[in-house]
Amino acid sequence: MSQTLTTGTTIAAIATAIVPQQGSVGIVRVSGTQAIAIARALFHAPGSQPWETHRILYGYIRHPQTQQLVDEALLLIMKAPRSYTREDVVEFHCHGGIIAVQQVLQLCVEQGARLAQPGEFTLRAFLNGRLDLTQAESIADLVGAKSPQAAQTALAGLQGKLAQPIRQLRVTCLDILAEIEARIDFEEDLPPLDEEVVKAQLEQVLAEVTRILATADRGELLRTGLKVAIVGRPNVGKSSLLNAWSRSDRAIVTDLPGTTRDVVESHLVVGGIPIQVLDTAGIRETADMVEKIGVERSRHAASHADLVLLTIDAQAGWTPDDEEIYLQVQHRPVILVINKMDLVAEDRLKLLQSKIQNPKSKILTAAARNQGIDALEKAILAAVQSGDILAANLDLAINQRQAEALTRAQISLQQVQATIADRLPLDFWTIDLRGAIQALGEITGEEVTESVLDRIFSRFCIGK
Ligand code: GDP
Repeated sequence: MSQTLTTGTTIAAIATAIVPQQGSVGIVRVSGTQAIAIARALFHAPGSQPWETHRILYGYIRHPQTQQLVDEALLLIMKAPRSYTREDVVEFHCHGGIIAVQQVLQLCVEQGARLAQPGEFTLRAFLNGRLDLTQAESIADLVGAKSPQAAQTALAGLQGKLAQPIRQLRVTCLDILAEIEARIDFEEDLPPLDEEVVKAQLEQVLAEVTRILATADRGELLRTGLKVAIVGRPNVGKSSLLNAWSRSDRAIVTDLPGTTRDVVESHLVVGGIPIQVLDTAGIRETADMVEKIGVERSRHAASHADLVLLTIDAQAGWTPDDEEIYLQVQHRPVILVINKMDLVAEDRLKLLQSKIQNPKSKILTAAARNQGIDALEKAILAAVQSGDILAANLDLAINQRQAEALTRAQISLQQVQATIADRLPLDFWTIDLRGAIQALGEITGEEVTESVLDRIFSRFCIGK
């Protein structure tokens, strides 16, 4: 990464997904002082098309030495500073597939560009002051968004909705620091520090820090999704439930590769929330080990889940084994799914429901007949909104890095309060206040180290 901190070189990358035979257009993006010279060397625009910024030229890409035709393409020129990186940027819009774009990329490198590292275009946008760090992170989130809600939150971040309050908090801390330092340096010339004002300001800053920190759970939820485990005895209908759910109209099944361990089975989107259903149903038990494994597996699944769907067989009722499994998972929010309702008369179902005290949230399904999925989703959304799973409901949502920095700011600010309460000299107040300012600055990038940049931009794909 360290080499990327120098923005002198010209970088190039394929900016579109590289999938053979898919996508009709492939884009090679070049950024840096050499970008336009490279385009001039490779691109031939017939007629009298002007090489002006923010125009699209039509023409051919040719090998500069042999003049061999590489592709018929469009060229987009964006001169600095009106570009994504604030440098000169050109984009070759080639035919899709992998061959043309790779050849064009190769030619750009031969003309002096260097292959871009993941996130390097966005890193340059940050280093050149076009984006702050939260905005840069929002771009990665937008690209990786798994639901419309996640995309909305990323867009809010991109528009500075997170950076603004953080910057404001930092400014307030800087103001307090200035007041204190003035008292340290020019004690005789100034009226004494109004301690009550400082205390009130700190209290306000802390409250806001805490409020923003509460969005971390929501950020996590939007980013990775709600992890739901379906648990229950063998043959109660867990697989059938998952099948019915995946096939229902409201659930958009996304075919994303599992990000975590082997337990991830399906990705659904319910009410805008991405949901990972952790598979506990897939493996078939051998008869003699049934109960033991069932219990063990339920415990394991629940330890990874935000929400547990405890499934029982309506015909069998609430059995001691169901009770045993419930004991393993009750530390999580649990929804009881009473399946196979089609096999039991209505009055018996009512009786069963009233007999079971816990879990409180109960729904009836007939998974094999695709019935009850509506109720299931309603119950999940109700659990999410009730605050069991999610405290905050805000436009903004912070990620793990931001939460870590914000937590450091919170601790430092509490430390300042303690220092004041202990009546320690002013010098001591400033130490922790500086700590808070540093931590807040790391979030937006006003104070930043290379390792922080590394951590952020390594998440990106190449060409972004
Ligand atoms: P699992 O072991 O918990 O995953 O259970 P399965 O989903 O494999 O279901 C076990 C059996 O119950 C299968 O024969 C299913 O067809 C049947 N089954 C599942 N759900 C229902 C239901 O709602 N009604 C009825 N009548 N049968 C069901």
